[in-house]
Amino acid sequence: MNDCIFCKIINKEIPSVTIYEDDIIIGFLDISQTTKGHTLIIPKKHYENIYEIDEDTLAYIYKKVPKIACALKTAFKAKGMNVVNNNGELAGQTVFHFHVHLIPRYNEKDGFRAIYTNHMDKYSKEDLEKIAVQIRENFN
Ligand code: AMP
Ligand code: ZN
Repeated sequence: MNDCIFCKIINKEIPSVTIYEDDIIIGFLDISQTTKGHTLIIPKKHYENIYEIDEDTLAYIYKKVPKIACALKTAFKAKGMNVVNNNGELAGQTVFHFHVHLIPRYNEKDGFRAIYTNHMDKYSKEDLEKIAVQIRENFN
């Protein structure tokens, strides 16, 4: 992917502040620093999103998440940690090379917010069973 900004970071065509690197992934500071220490973990091989990435690569990324999350927690005395992966524009993906955000949390107004609206009143137990069937029917 020639015009992929994260491939360019991997190839060192554009600079990044790298905190972790091995044969398969790199971890580097997100330029936005939504909160102090905000880090991205990406595979060196280009995959656009969660639908494309191969299982072993994804497993490897998440295998390394605790190590990096613990380092961030210790370094900055973070009180929480959001581990986030956006897929598709509607979900907030702006760079189409798979990545996992590690966002250390310090307080309720530190710059990151995830809102989970409760729609329990709109779904009966039967609705949930129907939803589950639809999902199960689509496993490959
Ligand atoms: P997402 O919105 O989930 O696709 O996240 C993409 C992230 O990449 C954003 O948080 C950006 O701040 C970050 N980003 C974009 N360009 C760079 C760059 N050159 N170096 C570091 N982070 C970047
Ligand atoms: Zn890429």
